[in-house]
Amino acid sequence: MAILKFQRPNGTQDVVGKQIDKWHTVEDIVTSEAQVYGFSEIRIPTFESTSLFVRSVGDSTDVVQKEMYSVSAKGDAELSLRPEGTAGAMRAVIENGLLNESFPQKVYYLLSCFRHEKPQAGRLREFHQFGCEMVGSQDPRSDAELISLAKSIIDRTGIKGVELYINSIGCPNCRARFTEALKSYFADKQDSLCDNCKNRLETNPLRVIDCKEENCAKIAKDAPIILDYLCDECSEHFEKLKRCLDAMEIKYTVNPKIVRGLDYYTKTVFEFVTTDIGSQGTICGGGRYDGLIEQLGAKSTPAMGFAMGLERLILTMENQGVEFKNEPTCDLYIATLGEKAEIKAMQLCSQLRENGNMAECDIVGRGLKAEMKYADKIGAKFSMVIGDYELESSSARLRNMKNGELSEIKLDGSFAYNFESVLVSFLLGADDIFKQ
Ligand code: ATP
Ligand code: MG
Repeated sequence: MAILKFQRPNGTQDVVGKQIDKWHTVEDIVTSEAQVYGFSEIRIPTFESTSLFVRSVGDSTDVVQKEMYSVSAKGDAELSLRPEGTAGAMRAVIENGLLNESFPQKVYYLLSCFRHEKPQAGRLREFHQFGCEMVGSQDPRSDAELISLAKSIIDRTGIKGVELYINSIGCPNCRARFTEALKSYFADKQDSLCDNCKNRLETNPLRVIDCKEENCAKIAKDAPIILDYLCDECSEHFEKLKRCLDAMEIKYTVNPKIVRGLDYYTKTVFEFVTTDIGSQGTICGGGRYDGLIEQLGAKSTPAMGFAMGLERLILTMENQGVEFKNEPTCDLYIATLGEKAEIKAMQLCSQLRENGNMAECDIVGRGLKAEMKYADKIGAKFSMVIGDYELESSSARLRNMKNGELSEIKLDGSFAYNFESVLVSFLLGADDIFKQ
C-alpha cells in the first residue's frame, strides 16, 4: 500500500465529491440574497499588513494576540493572513474611493479566514465567511436592514430554530462609564477570574463578560449591564432599531451579555445562534463600527456589517436534514462498440456539449457492461449504445435511465443540436416523429 506522505494541515478541510453541492447551495443563497438587498461583491487580498488587523480588530483581542498567521518576507513589513473580512473590506473601501460615492455603500464578500484556534466541530483554522458591510449610514434603519438580510439568508437555507440576539454596547462615551462600573464590580473578585480575564480587566474589561470559562461566566452573571449605561443617543438608536425589527416582524431577544470578540464594535451588536451544532453555535455575528474608518485614517464615517460562518451554516443544514441542491451530472451517456462508434461518440459528445448538454462517452476503454454500470454511477439521465448497426442505420435507441423506457431516435447531423426537443418528445411519448 502506498504511504500517504502528506495530510492536510490541522484545522483545514478539503471539499470533494458531492460535498461541493452543499457549498454551491449556500453560496448561491447568500450571494443572490445579498444582491436582492442591493449589495455588490468585492474581492480583497488574502493577506494584509499585520498593522491593519492590529488597528482594527484590536491588539488586546485573542484574534490578534494569539490567532494570526503572520510572516515577514525578505525584510518587508509584517503581513498576516486575514483572520476576518471587515478590516480588509474597509481598507479597500477607503483605498478605492468608495467613501466619495453616494451612501450607503453596500458590499459583500465570500472569503476564507485564518485563525490559529483549537480545531473542533464548527471551529477551524481555515474557515469561510460570507460578510456584508454597509457604509455611510448612522440611522438605525440601516442596522435593521442589515439584520433583515442576515435573517432572510438564514430563512432561505431552510434551517429552523435560529435565535437572534441583539444588544447595544454604546459609543465610547457610554462605554467609558460602563467600563468603570465593570472594573469596580470585578475589583474584589479579580482573584477568582482566569488569567486571561485578569489581564482583560486592565486592557479590555468588556471581554470579561464574554469569557467562556465556567467560573468567569458565574462571576460575571451579576455584572452591571451596558444597557443601563447608554447615553441618550445610543439608547434612542437601540429603541428605534427595535421598533424597525418589530415592524419587519423579525423576532429577537435583547441579550446584554453579547459584546462580540472584536474591538471595533459600537452601538448595535447581534448574533444568530443555533443549538443544533454543539457549543460553536454562533452562525452569524455582526454589529456597528462607527469609529473604525476614522481609525484607519479616513474621514469619520459610520458603518456596520456581519459575517456568517459558512461551515457552521452547512453543519446546521446537515444536522437538520435540510435538502441541498443536486448539481446536474450527465444528460446522456453514449456507450460504444467498436472503433468507428467510438469516434462517432466523440463527435456527438462534442456537438452536444457545444449545445450546452452534459454528454459523456467512454474514454478509458471499458467493456459495454462496465460502461452501462458507469453511466448509472454518474447519474446519467439517458443513455444509448452505438455499434455498427446504429452507424449503418443512422438510428439508435435512447434509454431513459430512470425507468428503462426505450425510444428509437434518428442519429443524423441534427441530433445533437435538437437533443432537448428529442428528449421532450420522448418524455411526452411522441417519439414517432423522429422515426420518419
Ligand atoms: P466564536 O464565537 O465562535 O468565537 P467569533 O466571535 O470569533 O466566533 P467572528 O469573528 O464574529 O466570530 O466571525 C463571524 C463568524 O465566523 C462567526 O459567527 C462564526 O460563524 C464564524 N467563525 C469564527 N471563527 C470561526 C472558526 N474558527 N471556524 C469556523 N467558523 C468561525
Ligand atoms: Mg472566536
